[in-house]
Amino acid sequence: MDLGIKGRRAIVCASSKGLGRACAMALADAGVHVTLTARGAEALKQTADEIRKAHPGVTVTEVAGDITTPAGREAALKACPEPDILINNAGGPPPGDFRNWTRDDWIKAIDANMLTPIELIKATVDGMMARKFGRIVNITSAAVKAPIEILGLSNGARAGLTGFVAGLSRKTVINNVTINGLLPGPFVTDRLRGTAKAEAEKRGIPVDQLLAERAKSNPAGRFGDPEEFGYACAFLCGDKAGFITGQNILLDGGAFPGTL
Ligand code: NAP
Repeated sequence: MDLGIKGRRAIVCASSKGLGRACAMALADAGVHVTLTARGAEALKQTADEIRKAHPGVTVTEVAGDITTPAGREAALKACPEPDILINNAGGPPPGDFRNWTRDDWIKAIDANMLTPIELIKATVDGMMARKFGRIVNITSAAVKAPIEILGLSNGARAGLTGFVAGLSRKTVINNVTINGLLPGPFVTDRLRGTAKAEAEKRGIPVDQLLAERAKSNPAGRFGDPEEFGYACAFLCGDKAGFITGQNILLDGGAFPGTL
C-alpha cells in the first residue's frame, strides 16, 4: 500500500531501539527521510545503518542527545528544521509506590512524557499548518486508557499530554495537521523486559516465567511485535489519514476489556 508520503521528512524521537525504532523503519519503508534520536550514539548508529541498508532511497540522519533536554530538542530540530512528521517518544518513568516519589521524580516524568512532546509540537506545528501537511504521533501507553498501578508517574504524565492534545488536535486539522496518540500494550522491547525483571524479582520468580505468564494472559496469547506498532504509526502518518485526529489508539492484543 502506498501511503503517499514518499519524500516527506520525519523526526522520530527516541528511536535507536524498541517502538521508536520500529516507527522509523516503517516510515522509511514508506519512503520518508528520517531523523533519529537517542542518547546512546552506538545503538543509534547501528539502527541508522540498518535502516539505510533496508531502504537505500531515504536519507537517515542521526542525532545523539537527550530529547528531554532543550539541547537535545534543539539538535533534533537543527537536523530537521521543517519536519512533515513528528513522532514523540522518550523512555518511560520507573515503576514504584507514589509514597516514595518526590517532587523531582514527578517533574522528571512530566518533563519527559508530557512537556517534551508539547515543546516539540510547539516548535513544529505552525510550520506544518502553513505547509498544509503534518502528522504528529505521540507514543504514550495503554496506561492512558487503563492506569497501571505501579506506573503512577506514567499514568499521570501521559494523561496530561493526552488532555492537552485533545484540545489542540481539533485546531490543527483544518490545515491537514493531525495529532494522535498510539497506546502500546505489552510489546517485546528492552522496556518490557526491564519492567518484567523488577516485577519478577519482587515475586521471587524467574523473569522468563513471568514473561510467559503475561504473554499467555493476553487475549492474543502473545506480546506485540514492535514491527506491528511501526506500521500502525506509518498508517497514521499517511496522506489519506488526514481525517483521523485527536484519537488514542490502543495496540494491546485486546487486553483492555471495554466495549469502546
Ligand atoms: P525501549 O525499548 O527501552 O527503547 C527506548 C528508546 O528510547 C531507546 O532507543 C532509547 O535510547 C531511547 N530513549 C530513552 N530515553 C531517551 C531520551 N531521554 N532521549 C532520547 N532517546 C531516549 O522502550 P520502548 O519499549 O520502545 O518504549 C517506548 C515508550 O513506550 C516508552 O515511553 C515506554 O514507557 C512506552 N511503553 C512501552 C511499552 C512496551 O510494552 N514496550 C508499553 C507501554 C508503554 P537511549 O537509551 O540510548 O537514549
